[in-house]
Amino acid sequence: MALRTIESLGELAGKRVILRCDLNVPLKDGVVTDDGRIRASLPTINALVHRGARVVIVSHLGRPDGAPDPQYSLAPVAQRLSELLGAAVAVADDTVGDGAESTVAALENGGVAVLENLRFNPGETSKDADERRAFAERLARFGDAMVSDGFGVVHRKQASVYELAQLLPSAAGSLISTETDVLDRLTERPERPYTVVLGGSKVSDKLGVIAHLLPRVDRLLIGGGMLFTFLKAQGHEVGASLLEEDQLDTVRGYLAEAQERGVEIVLPTDVVVAERFAADADHAVLAADAIETGPAGASGIGLDIGPETAARFAELVASSATVFWNGPMGVFEFPAFAGGTRAVAEALTRVPGLGVVGGGDSAAAVRALGFTDAQFGHVSTGGGASLEFLEGKKLPGLEVLGWA
Ligand code: ADP
Ligand code: MG
Repeated sequence: MALRTIESLGELAGKRVILRCDLNVPLKDGVVTDDGRIRASLPTINALVHRGARVVIVSHLGRPDGAPDPQYSLAPVAQRLSELLGAAVAVADDTVGDGAESTVAALENGGVAVLENLRFNPGETSKDADERRAFAERLARFGDAMVSDGFGVVHRKQASVYELAQLLPSAAGSLISTETDVLDRLTERPERPYTVVLGGSKVSDKLGVIAHLLPRVDRLLIGGGMLFTFLKAQGHEVGASLLEEDQLDTVRGYLAEAQERGVEIVLPTDVVVAERFAADADHAVLAADAIETGPAGASGIGLDIGPETAARFAELVASSATVFWNGPMGVFEFPAFAGGTRAVAEALTRVPGLGVVGGGDSAAAVRALGFTDAQFGHVSTGGGASLEFLEGKKLPGLEVLGWA
């Protein structure tokens, strides 16, 4: 079954619509440093404004401890939202108290308000369903309908994501429907050749994704910190690189399964090996099966895929019809070890079909390297949520909107 759309909510002019967004953006000294998630929320906000709804935005920010904490106030986010919308945005000083009540009551048709951080209230993330429901009931008083558009939280059974959507007539916003459509294409109906590129820090974070996607892809490219567990599983020494000994058997299982299915697992042939984990560490390019033969010997740490591998990965990516990429190829935070990540990102911009960047750090990496979201087929706003979708898990925040 498909997600319910905003159209299913009927006439919205003059109605109060609670809009659950994911405005959990990084802040520094009270200023938003990456407004990607605010921008991603604009289409649905604008759609509701154009329908003449009274838009009541709710979101979480950071991890406050179930009580008000000024450093996690949504006020600076509302300020940035107002700039991007080019319209005034009212800000309440609480989430469900008198401040919220009077802010919502003062809204005019087409007006926008932001209530204070949902997580200032213990009910939002409570493990107890009754507590969550009680908090959702207090929120529900502010709305005639509810639109869910915080894709980053749909894998969470939280009051504003799950219970609130049951209490009011509810529908998915355009961000959630776009994300879901892209991820569904990646899992159920990819155009071929289909290449998945995985990197990042740990294999153990990505096991579910490998298991679920292995039967669906044509080739799987492995970079990042997890590549060393693959090299070790093949019998190569990896120096002091990131290694998950307890995953060696699982990884051997994947290598065997890939062979049976005719899926190509492409591992690096060269690696950039540093003498220590630091931005200015001395480093050398070494063959992937000879990592300990460099100047650093067995204390060398692999911090990026080598140039030969980067070129091969780029060629395989750019010649695919569908690509999903999750996890940086190296420690991109250090410029000397960002080459592999940059090469894959650049190749992804040339994919003739659908090229998708998923994962929080991966999205941050492409922006930090100077790419814009518009250069890719899709940049997912949900790290954990996209991975759980790709693992084939059921996401409560989607099911409650009719997804099945
Ligand atoms: P995402 O959030 O996109 O899913 P991850 O959280 O899995 O990505 O991984 C991101 C981190 O992986 C980055 O901070 C990067 O520095 C780290 N990383 C990549 N390659 C290596 C490596 N060879 N050794 C150590 N860490 C690595
Ligand atoms: Mg991450």
